[in-house]
Parts: sequence; C-alpha cells; structure tokens
Amino acid sequence: MSGATPGRGLVLVVEDDRAIADLIGLYLRRDGFGVHVETDGSMGLAAVRRLRPVAVVLDVGLPGTDGIEVCRRMRADDDWTPVLFVTARDDEVDRIVGLELGADDYVTKPFSPRELVVRVRAVLRRAAGPAPAAAVVVGAVRLDPAGRRVHAGEREVVLTSTEFDLLAHLMRSPSRVFSREQLLSAVWGYAAAAATRTVDVHVAQLRAKLGQASPIRTVRGVGYAAEPAP
Ligand code: CA
Repeated sequence: MSGATPGRGLVLVVEDDRAIADLIGLYLRRDGFGVHVETDGSMGLAAVRRLRPVAVVLDVGLPGTDGIEVCRRMRADDDWTPVLFVTARDDEVDRIVGLELGADDYVTKPFSPRELVVRVRAVLRRAAGPAPAAAVVVGAVRLDPAGRRVHAGEREVVLTSTEFDLLAHLMRSPSRVFSREQLLSAVWGYAAAAATRTVDVHVAQLRAKLGQASPIRTVRGVGYAAEPAP
C-alpha cells in the first residue's frame, strides 16, 4: 500500500494491526507525507532498504522480527533514519531507551493519531539538526555541537542523539532551571505533560554515562539544571 510521495517525503509504517496502520497512514497523508505500510518486521526491514523512507513508524510488538530488532538491524547497517516507536507497554519503553538504538522517540498505545504526526515531524526536525555552534563547557564536561561530541575530562562519552540534544540544551544555559515540560518542548519538539517521564529516563542515562562529571542537578519539584559541581 504505497501512496504518492508529496512534499514531506515517504514515511514507512510497520504495524501488524491493520486498523491502527490505516489510521496512522490517514493522518500522515493528511499532513502531506507519503505512506507505505508493512505488517511484519522482516518485510518492514526490506522496505526500509528498498524505499529509503524519511522516517519509520515502528510497532515494537510485531510477529517474527520485532520492532526493536528491526531498528537494531537498521543501525547495524549504519542506517540512521529517524524511528518513532509505537509501544503497548511501559517495559518496552525502558528497552527502547536502554538499547541506545539511536531511535528518536516513542508513543505509547493508545495514542492520538494527531499526536503521532506531531512526533514524526519533531523527529524529522531533530534529525535535520540545529545549526552548529561553539563548544560549551560546564565543569568537566565539554560539548562540541559541530562534531556532536562530548568529553567528560579526557574521556569521550558516546551519547544518543536525544541525550546529546538534552545535554546541549541544559549546558547552553548553565544554572538555569528548566521544567520537564520546557525540556520536552525544546528537545523533543512537543509539549505533553503525560510524557515527562521521558525526560527523567534520559537524564538518568546521561548521568550514568557522564558519571562523576555529570553537571545535571535535580531541582526538586521543578526540573533540571546544568551546573559545575560546587
Ligand atoms: Ca503489534
């Protein structure tokens, strides 16, 4: 089921629930995307290679090859097409974030198709990336936007694109406290209070990777700020 590919490019939807796939397709087409649907993981992976979509909407719970494995194989092929996961369960969210597949975002079922379209547009914006800027240093952490590299002291720290964008946003305004909603809006490109846990999960990942050097401070009841250690 391929649509023409109007201005925004082709989005591949891999979803075994036909009703959900059709609904997603309807809303994406309405927003100006072309849409191609596959209903299992291996067909989905073949379609990624064949069609070169601008983004993939990928159900995690697929028969055969599941969505996480599809994404893992894409990244193993050095294919960094933005992926928006569709998950049915919270524990899948932890797997997605923890695996560091370079996947950009996820929505949890049930979701509003309108929100899904907003998320697809946001992952595409983020994949396009902001204009490179000068390096920023907070405490022992140095962030180089041009090379998208981060060092904690002498050690290079490998971050996912979302972790990098979140850290960059905090470090560009040292000591400024951002609410989770502000971070969602600035980094993920949308504001939905229901998704604030996403911010906490990514902050936890950043802290684990940066270790002692982490400049991220929790401001209880408010949000997060980047500050050099006292
Ligand atoms: Ca499914």
